[in-house]
Amino acid sequence: MVSRLTDHVFSIDVPLPGNPLRNLNSFLIKGNCRNLLVDTGFNMPESREAITGGLAEIGVEMNDTDIMLTHLHSDHTGLAPSISGPDSKLFMSGIDLKIFKLFNDPGYLEELDSIFLSFGLSEQELLKNKRLNPAMIYLPEKDAEYTSIDDGHVFDLGTCRLECIMTPGHTPGHICLYDRENKLFFSGDHILFGISPNITSWITLPDSLGSYLESLKKVRDLEIERTFSSHRQVEGDIKKRIDELISHHGERLDEAEQSVRKRGTATVYETASDLTWSIRAKNWDEFPVAQKWFALGETHSHLENLKMKKILNSTIKNGLISYSIA
Ligand SMILES: [Zn+2]
Repeated sequence: MVSRLTDHVFSIDVPLPGNPLRNLNSFLIKGNCRNLLVDTGFNMPESREAITGGLAEIGVEMNDTDIMLTHLHSDHTGLAPSISGPDSKLFMSGIDLKIFKLFNDPGYLEELDSIFLSFGLSEQELLKNKRLNPAMIYLPEKDAEYTSIDDGHVFDLGTCRLECIMTPGHTPGHICLYDRENKLFFSGDHILFGISPNITSWITLPDSLGSYLESLKKVRDLEIERTFSSHRQVEGDIKKRIDELISHHGERLDEAEQSVRKRGTATVYETASDLTWSIRAKNWDEFPVAQKWFALGETHSHLENLKMKKILNSTIKNGLISYSIA
Protein backbone atom coordinates (compact mmCIF):
# COMPACT_ATOMS: atom_id res chain seq x y z
CA MET A 1 0.00 0.00 0.00
CA VAL A 2 1.33 3.41 -1.03
CA SER A 3 0.42 6.74 0.62
CA ARG A 4 1.40 10.13 -0.73
CA LEU A 5 2.68 12.22 2.18
CA THR A 6 3.80 15.38 0.32
CA ASP A 7 4.30 16.39 -3.33
CA HIS A 8 7.39 14.22 -3.61
CA VAL A 9 7.34 11.95 -0.51
CA PHE A 10 5.58 8.57 -0.55
CA SER A 11 5.38 5.80 2.05
CA ILE A 12 5.17 2.12 1.17
CA ASP A 13 3.69 -0.23 3.76
CA VAL A 14 5.97 -3.30 3.80
CA PRO A 15 4.77 -6.29 5.87
CA LEU A 16 7.20 -8.11 8.20
CA PRO A 17 5.32 -11.43 8.59
CA GLY A 18 5.61 -13.19 11.93
CA ASN A 19 7.41 -10.27 13.56
CA PRO A 20 6.02 -8.20 16.45
CA LEU A 21 7.02 -5.02 14.58
CA ARG A 22 4.34 -5.99 12.00
CA ASN A 23 5.46 -3.67 9.19
CA LEU A 24 8.15 -1.38 7.89
CA ASN A 25 7.31 2.06 6.49
CA SER A 26 9.64 2.50 3.57
CA PHE A 27 9.85 6.00 2.05
CA LEU A 28 10.39 7.02 -1.53
CA ILE A 29 11.45 10.61 -2.09
CA LYS A 30 11.22 11.71 -5.72
CA GLY A 31 14.10 13.80 -6.97
CA ASN A 32 14.71 15.76 -10.17
CA CYS A 33 17.36 13.34 -11.45
CA ARG A 34 17.59 10.57 -8.89
CA ASN A 35 15.12 9.35 -6.30
CA LEU A 36 15.95 8.15 -2.82
CA LEU A 37 14.42 5.05 -1.21
CA VAL A 38 14.74 4.99 2.57
CA ASP A 39 14.87 1.38 3.95
CA THR A 40 13.62 -1.80 2.33
CA GLY A 41 12.21 -4.66 4.49
CA PHE A 42 13.20 -8.23 5.37
CA ASN A 43 14.80 -10.40 2.71
CA MET A 44 11.59 -12.43 2.35
CA PRO A 45 8.99 -12.75 -0.45
CA GLU A 46 6.12 -10.86 1.28
CA SER A 47 8.33 -7.81 1.92
CA ARG A 48 9.78 -7.94 -1.59
CA GLU A 49 6.36 -8.11 -3.24
CA ALA A 50 5.10 -5.09 -1.29
CA ILE A 51 8.09 -2.89 -1.99
CA THR A 52 8.45 -3.69 -5.69
CA GLY A 53 4.66 -3.34 -6.10
CA GLY A 54 4.74 0.00 -4.25
CA LEU A 55 7.58 1.36 -6.39
CA ALA A 56 5.74 0.33 -9.56
CA GLU A 57 2.58 2.06 -8.29
CA ILE A 58 4.54 5.28 -7.66
CA GLY A 59 6.05 4.84 -11.11
CA VAL A 60 9.77 4.96 -10.36
CA GLU A 61 12.54 2.80 -11.79
CA MET A 62 15.04 1.34 -9.35
CA ASN A 63 17.87 2.22 -11.69
CA ASP A 64 17.05 5.93 -11.17
CA THR A 65 16.87 5.40 -7.42
CA ASP A 66 19.49 5.22 -4.67
CA ILE A 67 18.86 3.51 -1.34
CA MET A 68 19.58 5.04 2.05
CA LEU A 69 19.56 2.63 4.99
CA THR A 70 18.82 4.32 8.32
CA HIS A 71 20.64 1.49 10.13
CA LEU A 72 21.98 -2.04 9.80
CA HIS A 73 18.98 -4.10 10.99
CA SER A 74 17.65 -6.72 8.57
CA ASP A 75 14.11 -5.25 8.48
CA HIS A 76 15.71 -2.16 6.89
CA THR A 77 18.60 -3.61 4.87
CA GLY A 78 17.29 -7.06 3.88
CA LEU A 79 16.19 -6.29 0.32
CA ALA A 80 18.60 -3.47 -0.55
CA PRO A 81 21.08 -5.38 -2.76
CA SER A 82 18.46 -7.46 -4.55
CA ILE A 83 16.00 -4.68 -5.50
CA SER A 84 18.63 -2.09 -6.46
CA GLY A 85 19.39 -1.35 -10.12
CA PRO A 86 22.88 -1.46 -11.69
CA ASP A 87 23.27 2.33 -11.19
CA SER A 88 21.78 2.47 -7.67
CA LYS A 89 24.02 3.46 -4.81
CA LEU A 90 23.48 1.96 -1.34
CA PHE A 91 24.17 4.31 1.57
CA MET A 92 24.65 3.48 5.26
CA SER A 93 26.54 5.19 8.10
CA GLY A 94 30.20 4.17 8.28
CA ILE A 95 29.72 3.10 11.91
CA ASP A 96 26.86 0.70 11.13
CA LEU A 97 28.49 -0.50 7.94
CA LYS A 98 31.51 -1.71 9.90
CA ILE A 99 29.29 -3.80 12.22
CA PHE A 100 27.06 -4.94 9.32
CA LYS A 101 30.08 -6.44 7.58
CA LEU A 102 31.04 -8.28 10.78
CA PHE A 103 27.79 -10.29 10.57
CA ASN A 104 29.72 -12.57 8.20
CA ASP A 105 32.69 -12.84 10.55
CA PRO A 106 32.57 -16.02 12.70
CA GLY A 107 34.87 -14.39 15.30
CA TYR A 108 32.45 -11.49 15.81
CA LEU A 109 29.46 -13.83 16.06
CA GLU A 110 31.28 -15.93 18.64
CA GLU A 111 32.02 -12.81 20.67
CA LEU A 112 28.33 -11.88 20.48
CA ASP A 113 27.38 -15.38 21.65
CA SER A 114 29.68 -15.18 24.63
CA ILE A 115 28.12 -11.82 25.56
CA PHE A 116 24.62 -13.31 25.57
CA LEU A 117 25.88 -16.31 27.59
CA SER A 118 27.35 -13.83 30.09
CA PHE A 119 23.82 -12.38 30.46
CA GLY A 120 22.63 -15.81 31.65
CA LEU A 121 21.09 -17.12 28.41
CA SER A 122 21.54 -20.93 28.23
CA GLU A 123 23.53 -22.63 25.44
CA GLN A 124 20.29 -24.31 24.36
CA GLU A 125 18.40 -21.00 24.08
CA LEU A 126 21.34 -19.49 22.23
CA LEU A 127 21.30 -22.25 19.61
CA LYS A 128 17.54 -21.98 19.17
CA ASN A 129 17.85 -18.20 18.74
CA LYS A 130 20.32 -18.67 15.90
CA ARG A 131 17.75 -20.59 13.90
CA LEU A 132 14.81 -18.31 14.65
CA ASN A 133 16.05 -14.77 15.15
CA PRO A 134 14.79 -12.58 12.27
CA ALA A 135 17.69 -10.20 12.89
CA MET A 136 19.98 -12.92 11.58
CA ILE A 137 17.99 -14.90 9.04
CA TYR A 138 16.50 -12.13 6.89
CA LEU A 139 19.72 -10.28 6.13
CA PRO A 140 20.62 -9.66 2.46
CA GLU A 141 21.76 -12.91 0.83
CA LYS A 142 24.21 -11.27 -1.52
CA ASP A 143 27.07 -8.95 -0.79
CA ALA A 144 26.99 -5.49 -2.30
CA GLU A 145 28.98 -2.32 -2.38
CA TYR A 146 27.86 0.23 0.18
CA THR A 147 28.80 3.90 0.36
CA SER A 148 29.38 5.12 3.89
CA ILE A 149 27.86 8.41 5.01
CA ASP A 150 28.31 10.44 8.15
CA ASP A 151 26.61 13.10 10.26
CA GLY A 152 25.92 16.17 8.10
CA HIS A 153 25.99 14.38 4.74
CA VAL A 154 23.35 15.95 2.44
CA PHE A 155 21.26 14.22 -0.22
CA ASP A 156 20.42 17.03 -2.63
CA LEU A 157 17.57 15.65 -4.70
CA GLY A 158 16.62 18.92 -6.41
CA THR A 159 13.11 18.67 -4.97
CA CYS A 160 14.50 18.85 -1.43
CA ARG A 161 17.70 18.61 0.61
CA LEU A 162 17.92 15.81 3.15
CA GLU A 163 20.51 16.16 5.88
CA CYS A 164 21.87 13.15 7.78
CA ILE A 165 21.51 13.49 11.55
CA MET A 166 23.51 10.87 13.44
CA THR A 167 21.41 9.47 16.30
CA PRO A 168 23.38 6.68 18.05
CA GLY A 169 21.38 4.49 20.43
CA HIS A 170 19.10 2.04 18.61
CA THR A 171 22.26 1.11 16.69
CA PRO A 172 25.67 2.77 17.11
CA GLY A 173 25.42 4.52 13.73
CA HIS A 174 21.68 5.12 13.28
CA ILE A 175 20.91 8.02 10.94
CA CYS A 176 17.75 10.15 10.65
CA LEU A 177 17.06 12.39 7.64
CA TYR A 178 16.05 16.02 8.07
CA ASP A 179 14.56 18.31 5.46
CA ARG A 180 15.34 21.56 7.27
CA GLU A 181 13.56 23.81 4.78
CA ASN A 182 10.27 21.94 4.82
CA LYS A 183 10.69 20.83 8.48
CA LEU A 184 10.22 17.15 7.63
CA PHE A 185 11.98 14.47 9.67
CA PHE A 186 12.50 10.79 8.80
CA SER A 187 13.07 9.27 12.22
CA GLY A 188 13.95 5.68 11.25
CA ASP A 189 13.79 3.50 14.38
CA HIS A 190 15.12 6.30 16.58
CA ILE A 191 11.59 7.50 17.31
CA LEU A 192 8.58 5.23 16.75
CA PHE A 193 5.02 6.18 17.65
CA GLY A 194 3.32 2.83 18.22
CA ILE A 195 6.09 1.07 20.14
CA SER A 196 9.30 1.99 21.94
CA PRO A 197 12.47 1.31 19.90
CA ASN A 198 14.62 -1.55 21.19
CA ILE A 199 17.77 -0.36 22.90
CA THR A 200 20.32 -3.15 23.21
CA SER A 201 23.99 -3.50 24.06
CA TRP A 202 26.71 -3.08 21.45
CA ILE A 203 30.35 -4.04 21.69
CA THR A 204 31.29 -0.64 20.24
CA LEU A 205 28.79 1.49 22.20
CA PRO A 206 29.33 0.92 25.93
CA ASP A 207 26.37 2.99 27.21
CA SER A 208 23.83 2.65 24.41
CA LEU A 209 20.91 3.85 26.55
CA GLY A 210 22.86 6.97 27.59
CA SER A 211 23.68 7.63 23.90
CA TYR A 212 20.06 7.04 22.93
CA LEU A 213 18.75 9.53 25.50
CA GLU A 214 21.31 12.10 24.29
CA SER A 215 20.20 11.51 20.69
CA LEU A 216 16.55 12.05 21.70
CA LYS A 217 17.46 15.41 23.25
CA LYS A 218 19.42 16.36 20.12
CA VAL A 219 16.35 15.77 17.93
CA ARG A 220 14.09 17.58 20.39
CA ASP A 221 15.96 20.81 19.59
CA LEU A 222 15.22 20.63 15.83
CA GLU A 223 12.34 22.50 14.25
CA ILE A 224 10.09 19.73 12.95
CA GLU A 225 6.55 19.90 11.58
CA ARG A 226 6.04 16.38 10.29
CA THR A 227 7.81 13.16 11.34
CA PHE A 228 7.81 9.96 9.31
CA SER A 229 8.74 6.88 11.37
CA SER A 230 9.77 3.37 10.30
CA HIS A 231 7.23 1.06 11.95
CA ARG A 232 3.46 0.96 12.45
CA GLN A 233 1.95 4.46 12.69
CA VAL A 234 3.76 6.69 10.17
CA GLU A 235 3.19 10.10 11.75
CA GLY A 236 2.79 11.57 15.22
CA ASP A 237 3.71 14.40 17.56
CA ILE A 238 7.49 14.07 17.84
CA LYS A 239 8.15 16.34 20.85
CA LYS A 240 5.44 14.59 22.86
CA ARG A 241 6.83 11.19 21.82
CA ILE A 242 10.38 12.14 22.81
CA ASP A 243 9.16 13.16 26.28
CA GLU A 244 7.25 9.88 26.57
CA LEU A 245 10.30 7.84 25.53
CA ILE A 246 12.54 9.66 28.00
CA SER A 247 10.12 9.02 30.85
CA HIS A 248 9.56 5.40 29.70
CA HIS A 249 13.29 4.69 30.05
CA GLY A 250 13.34 6.52 33.39
CA GLU A 251 10.71 4.07 34.64
CA ARG A 252 12.59 1.08 33.19
CA LEU A 253 15.77 2.25 34.95
CA ASP A 254 13.86 2.40 38.25
CA GLU A 255 12.47 -1.08 37.66
CA ALA A 256 15.93 -2.50 36.88
CA GLU A 257 17.41 -0.85 39.98
CA GLN A 258 14.58 -2.23 42.16
CA SER A 259 15.19 -5.72 40.76
CA VAL A 260 18.87 -5.63 41.75
CA ARG A 261 18.02 -4.10 45.14
CA LYS A 262 15.50 -6.85 45.87
CA ARG A 263 17.78 -9.68 44.76
CA GLY A 264 21.03 -8.37 46.26
CA THR A 265 22.91 -9.56 43.21
CA ALA A 266 21.25 -10.14 39.85
CA THR A 267 22.23 -11.43 36.43
CA VAL A 268 20.87 -9.74 33.31
CA TYR A 269 18.62 -12.78 32.83
CA GLU A 270 17.19 -12.45 36.36
CA THR A 271 16.54 -8.73 36.05
CA ALA A 272 14.97 -9.22 32.60
CA SER A 273 12.54 -11.71 34.16
CA ASP A 274 11.56 -9.07 36.79
CA LEU A 275 10.79 -6.30 34.28
CA THR A 276 7.37 -5.78 32.72
CA TRP A 277 7.21 -6.46 28.98
CA SER A 278 4.40 -5.73 26.58
CA ILE A 279 4.77 -8.83 24.40
CA ARG A 280 2.09 -11.51 24.21
CA ALA A 281 3.50 -14.20 26.54
CA LYS A 282 2.17 -15.34 29.90
CA ASN A 283 5.50 -15.04 31.67
CA TRP A 284 9.25 -14.80 31.12
CA ASP A 285 9.69 -18.57 30.67
CA GLU A 286 7.22 -18.52 27.79
CA PHE A 287 8.88 -15.67 25.91
CA PRO A 288 9.81 -16.73 22.35
CA VAL A 289 13.58 -17.07 22.39
CA ALA A 290 14.20 -14.31 19.83
CA GLN A 291 12.20 -11.92 22.02
CA LYS A 292 14.18 -13.09 25.07
CA TRP A 293 17.33 -12.21 23.17
CA PHE A 294 16.07 -8.64 22.52
CA ALA A 295 14.82 -8.34 26.10
CA LEU A 296 18.25 -9.35 27.48
CA GLY A 297 20.00 -6.75 25.34
CA GLU A 298 17.49 -4.13 26.45
CA THR A 299 17.90 -5.05 30.14
CA HIS A 300 21.69 -5.04 29.85
CA SER A 301 21.66 -1.53 28.34
CA HIS A 302 19.64 -0.30 31.32
CA LEU A 303 21.89 -2.05 33.88
CA GLU A 304 24.99 -0.64 32.17
CA ASN A 305 23.49 2.87 32.23
CA LEU A 306 22.92 2.48 36.00
CA LYS A 307 26.51 1.31 36.32
CA MET A 308 27.73 4.32 34.34
CA LYS A 309 25.83 6.53 36.82
CA LYS A 310 27.59 4.65 39.67
CA ILE A 311 24.27 3.33 41.02
CA LEU A 312 25.31 -0.28 40.30
CA ASN A 313 28.53 -2.30 40.28
CA SER A 314 29.15 -5.39 38.25
CA THR A 315 31.40 -8.42 38.60
CA ILE A 316 32.14 -11.28 36.22
CA LYS A 317 32.39 -14.79 37.65
CA ASN A 318 32.64 -17.95 35.55
CA GLY A 319 31.71 -15.90 32.49
CA LEU A 320 28.50 -14.62 34.06
CA ILE A 321 27.95 -10.90 34.86
CA SER A 322 26.13 -9.99 38.09
CA TYR A 323 25.08 -6.56 39.26
CA SER A 324 24.78 -5.25 42.78
CA ILE A 325 24.04 -1.87 44.36
CA ALA A 326 27.16 0.34 44.42
ZN1 LIG B 1 13.32 -1.47 12.30
